[in-house]
Amino acid sequence: SGHVQFENVVFAYDPDRPILKGISFEIPAGKTVAIVGPSGAGKSTISRLIFRFYDIQEGAIRIDGQDIRDVTQESLRAAIGIVPQDTVLFNDTIRYNIRYGRPDATDEEVRRAAELAQIGPFIESLPAGYDTLVGERGLKLSGGEKQRVAIARTILKAPPILILDEATSALDTHTEQEIQAALDLVSRDRTTLVIAHRLSTVIGADEIIVLRDGRIAERGTHRTLLAAR
Ligand code: ADP
Ligand code: ADP
Repeated sequence: SGHVQFENVVFAYDPDRPILKGISFEIPAGKTVAIVGPSGAGKSTISRLIFRFYDIQEGAIRIDGQDIRDVTQESLRAAIGIVPQDTVLFNDTIRYNIRYGRPDATDEEVRRAAELAQIGPFIESLPAGYDTLVGERGLKLSGGEKQRVAIARTILKAPPILILDEATSALDTHTEQEIQAALDLVSRDRTTLVIAHRLSTVIGADEIIVLRDGRIAERGTHRTLLAAR
């Protein structure tokens, strides 16, 4: 399961200024589709629409054939996991932060997810900077470490659909490569929508969609898109 379809989706935050002007694509269950395009093209908007944060003006978004307007917000949240650009952590242990979204998970399951995401040693620590009571004693996590917490949370949740919203864009090259390896692990055999700036970061995607001015300007694989340039 996890087949995602966008059918001629038209969307505007402000009626005078359409953001998506009729977008159609699908992600077959277990496949990876990447959306690339310049800043402001509407990439993050697409990820928000899958969660039904906003109502679309025309067209339909379907998950496994069902219009998401007929699905509760709770089941959408259960079906979709997101690794955002910037992970905001709760002022509690890393363990709590990983378990969030699956409170029923055993300590052993949390530990395994933390290890897969390579954040194992930090599991009992408190992130710094969110509470004056924690203050100096808190652990200052780097951007990459926060991403790992988000990845561990997603590994534990194991949603059928995964959204990676520029998940590695804020990281230095070395960290990016390490995080990318962890992301490849989570997205494997899972329906995945990757939102990215650069074509070079989505080489393995089954389809790449280039969004420009609210429309799909180009689509193909990394190889066919490069050949066309
Ligand atoms: P991208 O992810 O490709 O950078 P976004 O989807 O974030 O683009 O934004 C697309 C356009 O929609 C931008 O022009 C942005 O300013 C506008 N936009 C994004 N969010 C909102 C919002 N909540 N209200 C109004 N306009 C928005
Ligand atoms: P599939 O199961 O369809 O083969 P993969 O899990 O192999 O999909 O992922 C496809 C490709 O998407 C990966 O090779 C990787 O390069 C790319 N990818 C995954 N996550 C990200 C991300 N956050 N940013 C950029 N590219 C990513």
